[in-house]
Amino acid sequence: MKVLVAVKRVVDYNVKVRVKSDGSGVDTAGVKMSMNPFDEIAVEEAVRLKEKGAATEIVAFSAGVAACQETLRTALAIGADRGVLVQTDAELQPLAVAKLLKAVIDKEQPQLVILGKQAIDDDCNQTGQMLAALLGWGQATFASKLEIDAGKARVTREVDGGLETLGLALPLVMTTDLRLNEPRYVTLPNIMKAKKKQLDTFTPEQLGVDVSPRLKTLKVAEPPKRGAGVKVPDVAALVAKLKNEAKVI
Ligand code: AMP
Repeated sequence: MKVLVAVKRVVDYNVKVRVKSDGSGVDTAGVKMSMNPFDEIAVEEAVRLKEKGAATEIVAFSAGVAACQETLRTALAIGADRGVLVQTDAELQPLAVAKLLKAVIDKEQPQLVILGKQAIDDDCNQTGQMLAALLGWGQATFASKLEIDAGKARVTREVDGGLETLGLALPLVMTTDLRLNEPRYVTLPNIMKAKKKQLDTFTPEQLGVDVSPRLKTLKVAEPPKRGAGVKVPDVAALVAKLKNEAKVI
């Protein structure tokens, strides 16, 4: 079974993002970038499938600027076999990424495609779902457990108020939730080995995909600053404030 994993280069989750002064977006100049955390989980799951003998090859995919190569090298260091970069300086929205993924999937013919449930920069939570629709494949989003047996998948999904277990035929698009696994640390020898692994680069034009944005960002703003808190002398005063001022009880 060939597995394809999508890895996005995003602002590192430890960075406190700043909005550009003209409100046009988030300032990424000089900011640490890393692999989207949900995508690390996706790569880890693919590598575990390979270690168990359920997967034969893992192809990592990334779309974006040339520096996405670093993100792909990280995926290769975790254990992916090959990388595919679709290089463009254009702003990529989920539908464009889904179309690029479909073009690569048409060439690669994987049986399982794993994406993160959402990218922590745009928080869209759309790419996996759009991809499954474009391919006409089954989808299992927010996965917290995956079992593959006799060409079939059993996926446990995190849904509001509990868990849902689905039985699905392959090929399949799955998106990862936080509890699916805990990604391993990348070791130095594996980083060195990853430098020698194959990485192919395409442009959207070569894949015949129009990546023009369909949505226009009108404004990005910081959340309102929180006001200072007040100290109450006792529980009775707290209850009185909740009742009379906040009116929540
Ligand atoms: P989103 O729909 O933007 O929240 O992203 C969901 C998932 O789609 C991410 O966790 C990635 O696995 C994948 N994805 C989105 N954008 C890209 C990209 N530019 N390159 C590679 N994978 C991406």
